[in-house]
Amino acid sequence: MASGNERKKIDSAKELILKNSGLFRCPVCEQELGLSRSNSLHCSRGHNYDLAKQGYVNLLLKQEKGGYDKQLFAARKVIGDSGFFDPMRKAISKLIWEVGKGEEWAAARILDAGCGEGSHLAWIWQDLKAKKKGFTDILGVGIDLSKEGIRLAAKEYQELIWCVADLTKLPLQDRQFDIVLNILSPANYGEFKRVLKDHGILIKILPAPNYLIELREILFKGTDKELYENDGVKRLFANSFQLIKDQQIHYQVFLKEENLEHLIKMTPLTWNADQEKIAAIIHSGLKSITVAFDLLLGKKMA
Ligand SMILES: [Zn+2]
Repeated sequence: MASGNERKKIDSAKELILKNSGLFRCPVCEQELGLSRSNSLHCSRGHNYDLAKQGYVNLLLKQEKGGYDKQLFAARKVIGDSGFFDPMRKAISKLIWEVGKGEEWAAARILDAGCGEGSHLAWIWQDLKAKKKGFTDILGVGIDLSKEGIRLAAKEYQELIWCVADLTKLPLQDRQFDIVLNILSPANYGEFKRVLKDHGILIKILPAPNYLIELREILFKGTDKELYENDGVKRLFANSFQLIKDQQIHYQVFLKEENLEHLIKMTPLTWNADQEKIAAIIHSGLKSITVAFDLLLGKKMA
């Protein structure tokens, strides 16, 4: 998606934010944030947040110490670009299209809460825009706690708004979004409800018990981690949103040898594993891996 590639990233970010003014609120005092000529967002009480030259805004009050997750997000980008997530992304896009097409969602606003390096949102945004009917003027906003993730997103995808922020205290005004996405990321249902419009929907993707089962078997054989269930997460969702759909997305992915290492870097399963187990995975000759997600679709309860 290279449009206006000569323009500075900060200028296209400014233009997007101006076009959608009233979206952000100050994380300190909750007043509306406006954009000033000096490339910063400000509220009426004088709190200021600069736009980064890479084209994102940082609305996090306490900065996280980064560094480690840069590798993780780079690995996720490689895996994502290999098509690993495409059936899952396609399922989300299809669902949004089905729900939104009758409701005049040409200018629908989508928030990806916990967007990481932004590739899921960018893919879905582009897929929806490419559909023949509707979604011609949709807005995509990606938020993540990780500055490294957001920097990568802003660098790669200029036509969306990217923001470093805390999901438990979203710096967004009430009732701004038609769709909130929450893909393989922790949730804050209270905040999701607050920023959704009354007709809004939440789509959550969570790992299903068979997700990466081949890795799980090597890493956790004979321990209580070998089996994984997501019932608790589903119950929490259904307590907060009216559950409309619970859909399984299961498929096998053929793995190129070099992608196995990226996959190992990407998944939290391996983060505390000993080198011996990691080596066992690398030398396992694994050619294909099980991908299994559950997709939950919820409506805001009255
Ligand atoms: Zn303020």
